[in-house]
Amino acid sequence: MKRKPVIAGNWKMNKTVAETKELIAQIRKLNVYKAAEVVVCVPFTDLASAVKACKGARIGVGAQNIAWADKGAFTGEISAEMLKEAGVKYAVIGHSERRQYFGETDAGVNKRTAQSLKHGIIPIVCVGETESERNDGVTDKVNESQIRGAFAGIAAEGARKTIVAYEPVWAIGTGRTATKEDADAAIGFIRRVLAKLYGKPVANRIRILYGGSMNAKNCDELMSMPEIDGGLIGGASLIAADFCRIIESAKSKF
Ligand code: PEP
Repeated sequence: MKRKPVIAGNWKMNKTVAETKELIAQIRKLNVYKAAEVVVCVPFTDLASAVKACKGARIGVGAQNIAWADKGAFTGEISAEMLKEAGVKYAVIGHSERRQYFGETDAGVNKRTAQSLKHGIIPIVCVGETESERNDGVTDKVNESQIRGAFAGIAAEGARKTIVAYEPVWAIGTGRTATKEDADAAIGFIRRVLAKLYGKPVANRIRILYGGSMNAKNCDELMSMPEIDGGLIGGASLIAADFCRIIESAKSKF
């Protein structure tokens, strides 16, 4: 089944407002963003300027987290309503850096995913094994449990709209990319788990991205794999030419 590829940049805690405007202007100049559904996930303080800078271009803006509650005493959190008001269309949820440094759990990921869907924001749910889990041979087990955790109680209607990013933790920001075969196999496995939860027709519609040191050099081979529907890109998304080169690699999916 054909799925529209997604190339999403995760800027992490990089770029001021001025730098955001500049980087988006550079991406727009290269004008390749029609090859995929293109998203830039920027820091909260850059969201409004990013939305303005992307106006008229087919580039969606995403947040890097979303609160699980509507409003109230949740210091430091940003609600779905606030994000929507800023023009945000996507939210990264459960990134391994959130899990590793900020105690994000599968239960939290699940509540944030549900909240995101409730407000019409597309969740980009991240899962992936650590290096020691990989060495212990439990990659599939970890991914299955993170997927089951994230999607618990989520109806098929919401699951279908959700984007999953398979991001092996050992590959994030390390320059060590998963081989295209390993990434494809892990994503194929995740799709089978989703098929167990929702049936094949729904699982076959869910876009599953690869993330982990994807760059301008390795994007073509990763994107050539049938299960890989795009990329969640950290470091390389901060360089317009590299990010656009990765977007172009999505043309092979059409
Ligand atoms: C990420 O932050 O999701 C990521 C994949 O980072 P990098 O591309 O730098 O490995």
